[in-house]
Amino acid sequence: MEGIETSDGDSVLQSLGLCKLCFLRYTGVRKTQEYCTINESEADEPPTKYRKEDTCVACLGLLQHLTKDSEIKHIVEDLSKANYDSPVITCAVSLPIALQIRAHSIELFLSEKLASFERVKVVPIKEAWKWACSQRIASAVNKESCSGATCDFLVNINVEYSQDLKECSALEQVHSLKFEERRKQKRKFHGQLFTRQGVEGMLNSTTKEEFVAKFDYPPTAPAEPAFYNGVQCSHNAIFIAGRYNKFSRYLSQTPWLVEGERRMEGSVQELVSKVLEEHCTSKNSKFVASGREDVDVRTLGRGRPFAVELPDPHKTFFDPSELVMMQKLINEGARGLIHVRDLQRIHKDELVHLKMGEESKSKSYEAYCVCLEGELLDEKLDALSNIKNLVLEQKTPIRVLHRRPLATRNRTVLQMSATRVDDKFFKLCLETQAGTYVKEFVHGDFGRTNPNMCTLLGVSVDILALDVKQVFLDWPKYIIPTDSDSVPVC
Ligand SMILES: [Zn+2]
Repeated sequence: MEGIETSDGDSVLQSLGLCKLCFLRYTGVRKTQEYCTINESEADEPPTKYRKEDTCVACLGLLQHLTKDSEIKHIVEDLSKANYDSPVITCAVSLPIALQIRAHSIELFLSEKLASFERVKVVPIKEAWKWACSQRIASAVNKESCSGATCDFLVNINVEYSQDLKECSALEQVHSLKFEERRKQKRKFHGQLFTRQGVEGMLNSTTKEEFVAKFDYPPTAPAEPAFYNGVQCSHNAIFIAGRYNKFSRYLSQTPWLVEGERRMEGSVQELVSKVLEEHCTSKNSKFVASGREDVDVRTLGRGRPFAVELPDPHKTFFDPSELVMMQKLINEGARGLIHVRDLQRIHKDELVHLKMGEESKSKSYEAYCVCLEGELLDEKLDALSNIKNLVLEQKTPIRVLHRRPLATRNRTVLQMSATRVDDKFFKLCLETQAGTYVKEFVHGDFGRTNPNMCTLLGVSVDILALDVKQVFLDWPKYIIPTDSDSVPVC
């Protein structure tokens, strides 16, 4: 049978100076209700069996004083201030290392004094604290308490103890070599002298004789109890997707910095992300798009799909009108440089569409071209529309060689057609496989792209302007625009 049920066992446990919840823990009681009930009815009343003045030797008061409503109130206040809209919450406590040493001491002591102790599965302090406090904290902030594995909103409550370092110092005496190594290998141990795992390993490799000689055995009542010292909240990232048009030829997709210096004011990313970060109360964000266009290339049509990852957002629920409002704010702030549509919250798993689209989806372009040398013949221009699935060999363009490795890759121009503007100029419409260097296909990049418009037309050609007409990726889903967010025609 599990648990310590003899009066001998009781008296050994009582002589240690355990609080009521630690008494339950060390007798292996796993009925969560028992941990909660105590707090509701008796938390403020010291159990008659135990001395009122002493703080529990096992939990330093965490399951004793710190489960009281007056203490929980501080956590609730911090949480309310943090103002997260998540309907669910998972609470956890981070504990002083001294508690680990004390637990080891108690277990050594009980193993020696009580034969029945080896059958007891001691309830960990963290678990008992959760049973006693989680639900109460959740209710006080109008959220549902849930398990950490499935919950997006995690709250870590710091528990500190003024004598922590002092009580840990015996470890340094016993395991001086290990501490020396930790001090030297700062990077490996992240500069931390005491970690949960490290301490556990050291305690397990300490003989009982060493332990009894150097540590408090069995542990005695602490001079001061542990206390709560702030909460750390974190919410899993949320993702907002949409499509953007870029109407400016002087705007990069992401901030354009060279050696830390800005080359161009603003970017699509900043125009979009700033509004989303502010609205979701997220400190930063990550912008991902289905491919990218050059600074001087416009993106027209239905635009380019993108998604923004917003880490640790405080606000995560939006009704459709809020999304429309955010979209409107982006578009107004962009003053015609860009236009965003189809703004919506997506699930992280949907990002795969962006990644896949980047590789596999085709795009259509319109290029404004000039014939520099030679005669532009109608028959040659007209013949372009007969060419389908033209495979290009493209060496990494000179203009991007400084940031991409030299390679030759094959890309396909699926179809194209040209319209003459006058004797020198023509418009080229083409649909290409994702990743085709279109500018290089037009001017040939000193023969690094083959075939190219010069070889096809038999004249020297350059490109003056390029627009992306469509990105053929049917994601994210279309959202019917409202009157308040008129979409420019392009
Ligand atoms: Zn206790």
